[in-house]
Amino acid sequence: MFKKLFRITATTIVLLALSGISQSAETPVASAIPFTVDANFPGGNIIVDKIKANGSQAGKGQSFIVHLRPDLRDTPKYWFFWNFQVKSAQGYKIKFVFKPAVVGSRGPAVSVDEGKTWRWLSDANSPADHFVYTFAKNESNVRFCLGMYYMQSHWDRFIADYKNRPGMNISVLCKSRKNRDVELARFGNPDAKFGILLTCRHHSCEMVPNYALEGIIHEVFSGSDDGKWLMANVDFIVVPFVDKDGVEDGDQGKNRRPHDHNRDYVDEIYPEVRAIKALITPLAENKQFAVIDMHCPGCRGNDEVTYFYEPYTQKLRVQLREFCQILQKKQASGTMNYKETNNLLVGQGANKPDGKHKPIRCRYFGETLPNVLFSATLEIAYANAMKRSSWSSEPKDASSKEGSVVDANSTRELGRNVARALREYLGR
Ligand SMILES: [Zn+2]
Repeated sequence: MFKKLFRITATTIVLLALSGISQSAETPVASAIPFTVDANFPGGNIIVDKIKANGSQAGKGQSFIVHLRPDLRDTPKYWFFWNFQVKSAQGYKIKFVFKPAVVGSRGPAVSVDEGKTWRWLSDANSPADHFVYTFAKNESNVRFCLGMYYMQSHWDRFIADYKNRPGMNISVLCKSRKNRDVELARFGNPDAKFGILLTCRHHSCEMVPNYALEGIIHEVFSGSDDGKWLMANVDFIVVPFVDKDGVEDGDQGKNRRPHDHNRDYVDEIYPEVRAIKALITPLAENKQFAVIDMHCPGCRGNDEVTYFYEPYTQKLRVQLREFCQILQKKQASGTMNYKETNNLLVGQGANKPDGKHKPIRCRYFGETLPNVLFSATLEIAYANAMKRSSWSSEPKDASSKEGSVVDANSTRELGRNVARALREYLGR
């Protein structure tokens, strides 16, 4: 009888998942399985295929196996983002099995405060296809995510301390397709000869760079010599969530149909991309711009490194290298591994000219601005920043403990060093 109930439960959950209807406390299945697994919150993303008891023991102390996969939505092929919550599982041990194998190298990011703060479950040797979690007595709602998910609520809490500071101007870049406000922060000196465009979340699931953005803003407003110089000499333009709807809805964003936000700089089907181009293009007539468009690389494997894509234009490559050598020096005592030689040269890996040589990506849009200093994509690893002496050298094993931890603090620290490096590079 008990087994039969479970079979019904699992089937029901599959049907609910496939139909897009969420499992809720009101459904009859809730009495058979004592906990719920769902994505019913902003930024949530999961498909639950099956839940079954592991062994015959019943009651508290019982263990379960949950089979899951990412909800791809309008991303037509493999991608790896997921973000879900488990409620009412206190006292149970649950094994979460993923197919495809999309658990990061430090296991899931875990939050017991509804996604406000996160910690890694594991060191850098987590298996890719599963993790196991034993829920403490007071853990009635635990979130698990591929990475330390960051969305508007995080930004709102962070920017509250800065929005009334002299030199800070918070406004709305545009409305998203779903009528959400797309945030714009402009700070420093609007009349300065240097402009810096910083963008995050052209691919909505790539959450790590938002912590770097916090670090950059923190340094600029810190009152340090570097901060004061940057405030006086740079016009900072920051868009923290380019694909705002994707961030709040918990989409993959990457490779979405018909193309994603970072492949839109010719067609301009997204209001955010249109607004960025309309804002920057006239400003760039009179300013020397540096553009840093921030992303995350693959979730594990040989690409789990923090690095820049080198620009296509030779002159800009030289300038980016100069900046990156300064950053390497500043970051030498930092937690996260970064070396200028990590950078991806043109022709290596995915650093190929855009489709049919159209300037479709943000970084290529930046390269075509008059007076541009450099324009590059910065990739920040999701969980574990490995060392790489050069792209062509033998890559380290993704499970290597030699990788350094990527979390909110180590990424904010990287951001502070990016700001310090910008000051030295621009003021040289
Ligand atoms: Zn990306």
